[in-house]
Amino acid sequence: MAHSTAPRTVPADRTPRGPGLPVRCGVRGCGCEDPRQLLNAANAVTVVRTVASLALVATAAVQHSWPWLLAGYLTYWIGDSADGNIARWRDQETRFGAVFDVVCDRINCVSCAVVFLQFVDAPWPIAVFLFQFVVVDLPLTLLPMRWPVLSPNYFFLIDRLSYTLNWHVVAKVTNTTLLITLLVVLPDHQWVALVAASTVLVVKIWSLGRVLRLQVPQDTPHVPQGAATSA
Ligand SMILES: [Zn+2]
Repeated sequence: MAHSTAPRTVPADRTPRGPGLPVRCGVRGCGCEDPRQLLNAANAVTVVRTVASLALVATAAVQHSWPWLLAGYLTYWIGDSADGNIARWRDQETRFGAVFDVVCDRINCVSCAVVFLQFVDAPWPIAVFLFQFVVVDLPLTLLPMRWPVLSPNYFFLIDRLSYTLNWHVVAKVTNTTLLITLLVVLPDHQWVALVAASTVLVVKIWSLGRVLRLQVPQDTPHVPQGAATSA
């Protein structure tokens, strides 16, 4: 959508967020809204949830304990939701925080999944999931940062289809929780989890190809006019 027709605008504040920062164009999620402050509550929550989940998961591995692993997963999932929400509520969304969050997600998710293998013998569904999440989804989720958006959560400003498939909240929650839920609920039907993991992998590879083919604007702090309608 073009700047002039975007539904969620902040026209009252067209001032820069600080010295040396670009004038705000008013489009919610445009890169010009980045306050460029690394030390904030949102990034602190990301650090705490990453370290806390790692500690809980390591304890689960050493003690061979389900409850500790569950605590590690819950700390990762709840913390990952909390850091993003705190950033939005406190107006602390930064492009650095977006990338930091994506990298910390991989640390928590891989450590949880590897220890999960101690408890549920499901090497193939987990292997397909880890390949998808680290080898395909990590570069895919960093690609939106080539555009002047605050985070992949605003990639609908550039391309609505790839946003809906990959960074809409339903798509993200599904990708991080579906496989583990299927393996816990249907331990005797692992083919269901394998089909689900393989389907997500195909969608991710297709999305990677699509986003790689999108045109990237040069030298602008703002999302391009009419970008979403051209995709
Ligand atoms: Zn802007």
